[in-house]
Amino acid sequence: MTHMHIAGSIHADAAHGGPQWLEVPRDLNALDPKLWPRGTVRDDQGRIVVAGAPLTDVAREHGTPVYVIDEEDFRSRAREFRTAFPTWDIYYAGKALLTRRVARWAAEEGLGLDVTTMGEMRIALAGGMPAARLGLHGNNKSDEEIRFALEQGVGRIIVDSFDEIARLERACVDGGHRARVMVRVTTGVEAHTHEYIATAHEDQKFGMSITGGQALTALVRCHSSQYLDLAGIHSHIGSQIFDTHGFEVAIRRTMRLASQFRTATGVELPELDLGGGFGIAYTSADTPEPTGDIAAAFEEMIDHECRAFGLQRPHLSIEPGRAICGPAGVAVYEVGTVKVVDLEGGRSRVYISVDGGMSDNIRPALYAAEYSAALANRTSDAEPVLSRVVGKHCEGGDILIRDVFLPADVTIGDLIAVPGSGAYARSMASNYNQIPKPPVVSAKDGATSVMLRRETLDDLMRLDVGE
Ligand SMILES: *Cc1c(COP(=O)(O)O)cnc(C)c1O
Repeated sequence: MTHMHIAGSIHADAAHGGPQWLEVPRDLNALDPKLWPRGTVRDDQGRIVVAGAPLTDVAREHGTPVYVIDEEDFRSRAREFRTAFPTWDIYYAGKALLTRRVARWAAEEGLGLDVTTMGEMRIALAGGMPAARLGLHGNNKSDEEIRFALEQGVGRIIVDSFDEIARLERACVDGGHRARVMVRVTTGVEAHTHEYIATAHEDQKFGMSITGGQALTALVRCHSSQYLDLAGIHSHIGSQIFDTHGFEVAIRRTMRLASQFRTATGVELPELDLGGGFGIAYTSADTPEPTGDIAAAFEEMIDHECRAFGLQRPHLSIEPGRAICGPAGVAVYEVGTVKVVDLEGGRSRVYISVDGGMSDNIRPALYAAEYSAALANRTSDAEPVLSRVVGKHCEGGDILIRDVFLPADVTIGDLIAVPGSGAYARSMASNYNQIPKPPVVSAKDGATSVMLRRETLDDLMRLDVGE
């Protein structure tokens, strides 16, 4: 189950005024372990401490808003995938959060890395990720990006259209390269997630259709090319997925395609990539499966389909992004204003405005993503009140958390921490309203270190070269 709601229209409100799935917390000071970086605690002063670093100290040293990434949490989740899928290759999806240091962590933990653009390639390589462990994605790679990938020796290029196959071949001819490729296919799976992050249904921009026949044609085309090494099929069905049923359908359809390819060519495809999309807990209502259970389910499905189609087991890979960096990150904001708004039926809602908003986390505005939050600088014995955490931008939709219970005494100067902010927050940040982007700091053993510094107004002014 995912918990994404559009303006409360899908689920009726519960008696407390919030959505049905939202429970009134028994203890507002408690930290639900599935939401926070491992080892996050409140210290004896009531402050939230991430990787040994009290968030009050982080805020004082680095300012707010700030993203804190627990290095050991990131690494432990990377290791968990390696352990759960020992014979598979794990590609960390760099779009979720990419800095040179993050690329180094991924490389040191034995992961590869997925990139989509020149910028992501450059950062990944600068962080020490070997080019051979990069996968280049994207539905509109430029000639420059393709050329750069070939020159650097990027390990695999995931092709997404016939235009791109032709473009890639030309680049190989021009530069005297060969390219190892996978064909991104659409399996027709309707992943149970928001439309904008479901990527395998037919009517969207990614991939080549299995049912329409383009996928098989593209595979045969790559196979017969003297410039391309065809590794296999690539399927990514979407993001923030909790049940393995969608993957089961994707595995069946990609394996059937692999068997059709064998019929057409007499050759078996050596590899299969099943993409990313493993869901994480953003609220206490989310219940992600343990990575080991996902792995066991995948192994069983692969075995089953190999037997059904009489195929040898391909070399397998997956591409988790959010599941590695999401829970490792916490965003910290300072409260600027608190406003009580009267609702119908004698109820009211508390609007808590913080010093960031849709420019540092667009997901709630973009696809109604849910988050949770906790008071970070102290505990409180005040009663829980239904609150809405909003930003400082000039949009009514500038909402960070639509519905959350926070203590009734939250006030100006308090710190609000939002778990699950490691993925797709800083990486999707904008300068809307000319707000400089917040810094990303890593935390380990009580020490913090900046990996992306805060943008300054000078940075913004420097870009403005007109008069
Ligand atoms: C976004 C993406 C991923 C990672 O998705 P997560 O939800 O972060 O795991 C993996 N593969 C591809 C092709 C993607 O586009």
